[in-house]
Parts: sequence; C-alpha cells; structure tokens
Amino acid sequence: MTAAYYTLGCKLNFAETSSIGKQLEALGIEKETGGNADICIVNTCSVTDIADRKCRQAIRRIKSLNPRAMIVVTGCYAQLNPAAVGGIDGVDLVLGTGEKAKLAEYIADYMRSEKKTNLSGVKAGAAEDIVEFSPSCSRGNRTRYFLKVQDGCDYYCSYCAIPFARGKSRNGSIKDIVKMAESVAIEGGKEIVLTGINIGDFGKSTNEDFFQLIRALDKVDKVERFRISSIEPNLLTGEILEFIASSGKFAPHFHIPLQSGSDNVLKLMGRRYKKALFAEKVSHIRKLIPNAFIGVDVIAGSPGETNEFFKESLLFLKELPVAKLHVFTYSERKGTKALEINHRVSPEEKKDRSRQLIDLSSNKTLDFYRSQVGKQQQVIYEHSVKGGKMHGFTGNYLKIESNHDDSLVNQLVSVTLNVLSEQDLQFIV
Ligand code: SF4
Repeated sequence: MTAAYYTLGCKLNFAETSSIGKQLEALGIEKETGGNADICIVNTCSVTDIADRKCRQAIRRIKSLNPRAMIVVTGCYAQLNPAAVGGIDGVDLVLGTGEKAKLAEYIADYMRSEKKTNLSGVKAGAAEDIVEFSPSCSRGNRTRYFLKVQDGCDYYCSYCAIPFARGKSRNGSIKDIVKMAESVAIEGGKEIVLTGINIGDFGKSTNEDFFQLIRALDKVDKVERFRISSIEPNLLTGEILEFIASSGKFAPHFHIPLQSGSDNVLKLMGRRYKKALFAEKVSHIRKLIPNAFIGVDVIAGSPGETNEFFKESLLFLKELPVAKLHVFTYSERKGTKALEINHRVSPEEKKDRSRQLIDLSSNKTLDFYRSQVGKQQQVIYEHSVKGGKMHGFTGNYLKIESNHDDSLVNQLVSVTLNVLSEQDLQFIV
C-alpha cells in the first residue's frame, strides 16, 4: 500500500504531515510521489478565503492524479468547514484538528478490516475540546528542521479563526522537545526552526515558559542554529532578547506580528499591545543586536481601518527600522468578532493598501541588505544546487550564493559580504 502527502499552509502543517508520514511508514505504507497512490493525505490551511479556495482546488487535482486513492483531508479547513470539505467529490474521510493525531489509527483499523471498503465520514469536534499536544518535526531540506513546540491559541484576536481551528494553547514538555532536538542533531541537522501558533505562550500545559525552553535548547550539542519562527510582541520579553543577543546559537532573526501601526485598529483587532510597545521592542533589538533581521506581519484593510488609520500605520511602518513586512490582505473569517465591525474597506482599497505596504517592504529589505555590505556573517549552505551554485542563509537571514562545493554543504561557514546582487537580493561570496 502507498500514500501520497499534500500540505498547504504553514510550517506547523508541514511538521505535522511529516509525523503522519512517519506513523504510516511504521504501518508499512510506502511514500508515493508519482501519482496513483492508494491513500492521499491532504493537510489543509484556512488562514484566508484564498487558502480555502486553494485547498478545494488541490483536493480536486489530487483526486484526478490519484483516481483510485482514498482521500483523507485534515487540518484547519477540515476543522472549520468539515461539511464543505466532505462535499467535495472524491473525499472519503474528513478529520478535524482533534482527529489529526489519530489519523494513523484510522488507517490501521482500515488495513485490519476484512472488507477494505473505503473509510468514510466527517469527524470534526469542537475546537475547545482539543487538548492533546502532538509533537512533530519535519525536515525542510538537508540542513533545516521545523520543530513544533506549541499549538493552539487563547488570544482570539478579532480577525483570526485560528483558535477555532486549532484549539487552546498547549505545548510539549521541555524534556521531550530537547529530546527531539537531540534526534535532529543525530540525523545531522544543523538548524532547527521552532514553530507553533503562539510560541511565546509556550508552557501553559506543562508549567514551564518559553525562556526556559530556549535556554534548554541552547545546550543541545551539534545543532548549530535555532530560529524562532514568530513571536507576539507582548511576549518578547527583555530577558528573551538579552539571551538571544548573548547566545551563539539563537539566530538574530525576529518575526513579530504587528498587524497595524494604528492604536485604534490594534484595539479593534483585540491585540494586546499598543504601537509604542512594538516600537520599544524593535529599538531594544536594534540596540542589543544591530544587525538583526526583523520581519513584521501587517494586515491591509481590516474592518475599522479608515484611510486616516491606514496613513497613520504606514507612517509608523516607514519609520520602523525593520527589514521586511509580511503583508496580508484582510479576509473575512466565519465566526470572528471582526465581522461585527460596521466599517469595511472595499476590495480595491484593500488591494491598493497591500501594494503600498509591499512596495515599502521591498525598499526596506533592499536597505537592510545594503546595510550589511562588508560585514562578516556565518552561513549554513543548503543542498539546493542550481546551475552549479549553492545557496544558504546567514543567522540574520541574508541569502548567500556561492559556487557549489559539496564539502561546505550543511556546515557553518564564515563569509564576508562584499558583493551584493541587488537584482536577485542575495550576496555572492
Ligand atoms: S495571537 Fe491572534 S492572530 Fe495569532 S493565532 Fe492567536 S488569535 Fe490568531
């Protein structure tokens, strides 16, 4: 029996698909990549309505590539909209977030059953009932791994459906996570990205905290680098920043969701900070780690974002010394509080605001690269070889291109950043 795996959305989903793959492999199910698998596992995302649409398209495409396969759909879209997913032609089994970790059990039961008629049904319970944490770790390429340390969220920001899709904030224990990091080191992995939904909230289910976690991970031998995927500004404490600044392993790379540079909009969004706190965090990082890469999430056109508030936000962002804006266009999510806000931004205006933010981001990224010319950094080269070239990233997330040299792949290598290719946005060394 063979299975094919399809993942949409975030790194957490990729890590979870990888765990499902390992569990199915233990049942003797081989991985199929060329079509005609017996089972297809689709791990979906529902961050926007575009993501929902992509999931529906992907499921149809997967069914046509694997016409005789049993199609099992799980993930956030399956949890939030099980009926819509179950109604797609060819879908056999829909498993919500709480059932995701039991997917292998369903398949094992199916394999044991005598008649082998396809598993079918829709199994998605209430998100409040999801309490279990399922550990996962996936290998992104030869060098980088994504390690899930936390899941779920208790914040209920007004625009976000994630708490309804993934349930309450919960985490693995530091002891178990350290063990997983040690296994990565044994496999030869050099970089681990810590992933989760609200990872700064780590520790709720084990009476620990994120600061303790990073201190414990810092001691794991042979892992050269840890990155924190994204952390809420109010949870990025001074002690965490000071620790990262002094650690030789935690990368000077921060991804912090701001969402708006207007206090009025932040309030409507139900965010737990004001823009002054955000500016203070960024300036603290710059003071401790001047060359840190700071990426910021921003939402364009959320309800209540008037022209005036958008201008205020844009001005705030222009002055913020960050390297990149991750721009998201607001998308209505069923069941969220933002739907109760009367003021709406037209689709054309949302598009225009997104474009302005993306343009600003491009300028900021180029400025950041220019500011790094002449500096010394350490790169870990990845295996990707294209036209005799190899690529890698520095700790502060600068892309590096070099002539291929197999002996340097998956090694921490010191480089001097003299030649910047502005067109490709990478340093040539
Ligand atoms: S912190 Fe807010 S935006 Fe982030 S997952 Fe939780 S509810 Fe959603």
